[in-house]
Amino acid sequence: MATDEHTNEGEQKTYYWPNKMGRMMLLALEDVMGKNGVNAVLNLAKLRHLINNYPPNNLDLGWSFEEMAALNQALDDMYGPRGGKGLAMRAGRAGLYYALKDFAAVLGIADLAFRLLPLGMKIKVGLNAMAETFNKTSDQVVRVEEEVDHFLYHIDRCPVCWGRTSDVPICHAGLGLLQEGLHWVTGGKNIRVEEVRCIAKGDPSCTYVIDKRPLD
Ligand SMILES: [Zn+2]
Repeated sequence: MATDEHTNEGEQKTYYWPNKMGRMMLLALEDVMGKNGVNAVLNLAKLRHLINNYPPNNLDLGWSFEEMAALNQALDDMYGPRGGKGLAMRAGRAGLYYALKDFAAVLGIADLAFRLLPLGMKIKVGLNAMAETFNKTSDQVVRVEEEVDHFLYHIDRCPVCWGRTSDVPICHAGLGLLQEGLHWVTGGKNIRVEEVRCIAKGDPSCTYVIDKRPLD
């Protein structure tokens, strides 16, 4: 997998998530806004071929970054930046539970041994498991870095903001997924997550800061 490309500019190649992940994103969005809402967003995103025809539940690489970006852009266009952000974050959260059904057992994060780890280690293992899932099954490229009091979760090739431009970070589905994933791995703690860098505003990666200590 190429890791020498850090920006969206000048790239011709088409990158993909597996069909299964695109399907999870749409099902999660349905959970938060209903089927009619999703149909309206797909219509606006010029993804009409997906209405009542979600990607199949397999690992074939068939959900393009262009489709993911168009879907997320349509949420912002339809509901405004604030409303779109709220919906995308909630979809990211709901999406976690679809992902867990498929990936948790494989990654070992549902085991008793995992449950017994100290909090900081749970966060670390959870973040690495999420990164590994994307790196192994999709063209999304993720790196996790550890600092003294926080982790950095870098997405070097990001489908949410693919080809988009913005003055502020816009990868809200990733934010929701991380928040809920951390809530789940820590057994219900609220961990602060913030996107501080975004390829859409010219940064080399979409980067989230994750505190090691919970808010509560
Ligand atoms: Zn992004």
